[in-house]
Amino acid sequence: MTGTTSAPSVTISGIRASYGRIEVLHGVDLAIPSGSVFALLGPNGAGKSTLLKVMSGRLVPTAGVVDVDGFVVGKTPAEKLVKRGICAIPEGRGIFPNLTVRENLRLWTYGGKASMAEVEEKAYTTFPRLKERRKQLAGLMSGGEQQMLAISRALVTDPKLLLLDELSMGLAPLVVAELYESVKELARNGMTVLMVEQFVTTALALADHAAIMVHGRVANQGTPQEMADAALTAYLA
Ligand code: ATP
Repeated sequence: MTGTTSAPSVTISGIRASYGRIEVLHGVDLAIPSGSVFALLGPNGAGKSTLLKVMSGRLVPTAGVVDVDGFVVGKTPAEKLVKRGICAIPEGRGIFPNLTVRENLRLWTYGGKASMAEVEEKAYTTFPRLKERRKQLAGLMSGGEQQMLAISRALVTDPKLLLLDELSMGLAPLVVAELYESVKELARNGMTVLMVEQFVTTALALADHAAIMVHGRVANQGTPQEMADAALTAYLA
């Protein structure tokens, strides 16, 4: 069961953010329930990736608060947020293409408390395909398998909140469906997932809640069923 009725794990209040002198988030408010998959939708340039940047410590907001289980993100740099249970899958997947799957996994044990055995166990349980490919160079795997490896990196730190920005980029629909099935399983086990996704139907089929951003604000939020028409209107506008 996903924890759709539990208290918010993440509360975003009045977030404003700018690039130089141009403000692109004009006061974003969202409450994301613990253990849910929350889809953030909206047309190009609405500010979805910028909100993820704020939440993952890569952009300091000019106003407002992001609270994750009582911890205020504020000016905490991205590396330190990982210790607070906030993990973003970086653009470009953040894996080392010239290392094997196992070598990539081994890298993530450095500086952390998890042993190689634990890291492998977590990665292979969530994505059995990675076990089959463990000796293969990461850069020679399919896009979907590379994305599995990237998500495994997040699993190492046992995050409370996983931020996914367009996981489906460049992947075939079947691969996307398989990846998101694993994401759903993570949420079932208590992780809160916020995903930005271009494929609206895929996102709404998977999510417990959704919000639509337009011009740097949340225009609508509710159940996936409620958001289906609202999304269409927002994209057409
Ligand atoms: P998309 O779906 O196209 O990725 P998005 O909703 O994620 O769009 P953002 O990438 O957050 O939107 O962009 C919001 C606005 O901020 C856009 O007008 C964009 O041009 C601008 N922007 C994004 N990144 C930067 C940057 N590094 N410097 C200046 N402006 C930026």
